[in-house]
Amino acid sequence: STFWGGVPMGPPDVILGITEAYKRDTDPKKVNLGVGAYRDDAGKPHILPSVRKAEENLFNRHMNHEYAPIAGDATFTNAVAKLALGEDSPALRNKTNCTVQSLSGTGALRLGLEFVTKHYGGVKELWLPNPTWGNHPQICNMISLPHKKYRYYDPKTHGFDLNGACEDITKMPEGSIILLHACAHNPTGVDPKPEEWKQLSQVIKDQKVLPFFDMAYQGFATGNVDNDAFAVRLFEKEGHHIMLAQSFAKNMGLYGERVGALTFLCPDQETAAKMMSQVKIMIRTIYSNPAINGARIVSEILNNPELNQMWLSDVKEMADRIISMRKELRDGIEGRGNPQKWNHITDQIGMFCYTGLKPNQVERLTKEFHIYLTKDGRISVAGISSKNVDYVAEAIHKVTS
Ligand code: PLP
Repeated sequence: STFWGGVPMGPPDVILGITEAYKRDTDPKKVNLGVGAYRDDAGKPHILPSVRKAEENLFNRHMNHEYAPIAGDATFTNAVAKLALGEDSPALRNKTNCTVQSLSGTGALRLGLEFVTKHYGGVKELWLPNPTWGNHPQICNMISLPHKKYRYYDPKTHGFDLNGACEDITKMPEGSIILLHACAHNPTGVDPKPEEWKQLSQVIKDQKVLPFFDMAYQGFATGNVDNDAFAVRLFEKEGHHIMLAQSFAKNMGLYGERVGALTFLCPDQETAAKMMSQVKIMIRTIYSNPAINGARIVSEILNNPELNQMWLSDVKEMADRIISMRKELRDGIEGRGNPQKWNHITDQIGMFCYTGLKPNQVERLTKEFHIYLTKDGRISVAGISSKNVDYVAEAIHKVTS
């Protein structure tokens, strides 16, 4: 035990801590708005019908359980790259992408950033939006990759701070890396508009900064996977050699299957081949080769036209439920004559809403109303249902007026 005696206690995970507290609460009115996973209108985890069907198809095919290739199966990696980059991506046409299967979005980020620490020829420094998903800085710390913040969210408007972001980008060292949430920004739900993406692309290009897109919610923002890939595709068209982390946790409800992908767009095939050789060596030393089950499900859905159609409507259904809950929540608060403005609830997009609630108001929501959310005032709109929306609206109204 003395060998481990110097290990200090680490802080508990904030989000998981909220779920623990929620579970302990015995009040029947309790609501969990902390969890970052989709729930149906009955508050239950949702199995997508397209996923169910894909699983049946796979089961009936009696497949074996041999190892996958180190980078994952090509039927998977080709399909997921096409989903993100689109039918007419120059990189896919010219085969200048390097795409590997990863352990969901987190694994793609970790692998991509660790690759940076070893092989990147630019400035090994990552710029994160302020605020961002808590695991981004944590991953950087774990691999000793310096990270800094650029302005993103404007608390005054509850919207995107375009001028602040552009100003900060122009101060980034040439060759450093900027992390961008491709859509449905977590935790704020604030995305740049198409015109704003165009400006960002230009400033980032002028500054010679490398964009790394984190796309954990393709389809979850607008309900349409092509719309949600707008920024990624625009940046490719504009000539950026982007890095891209994809996750199928949310848009296919495959959370625990841990299926995702990491893509590098390279200047030519030779560079792509060299990159692939090095990513494979890295993968080999971490987990040898990826898990097959989740990737088979994703591959079956994306490569089978009928299942693909089914999935697109499954995604839309989830996004639509979230959009309608945003509207009901806003109406519920404003309808009670609340003195504040609540347009940001419907302006923001995706799973999360950054309500602007202050820490003391959040505390009151939890203590008096048994509603659980993070201290920064972020709520998971997926936790709201037709049954509890009125109760949540009433509670928010009471703590803010
Ligand atoms: N990136 C962002 C911004 C996220 O919100 C999440 C999940 O909450 C992820 C990445 C990765 O999730 P996973 O590893 O489950 O795919």
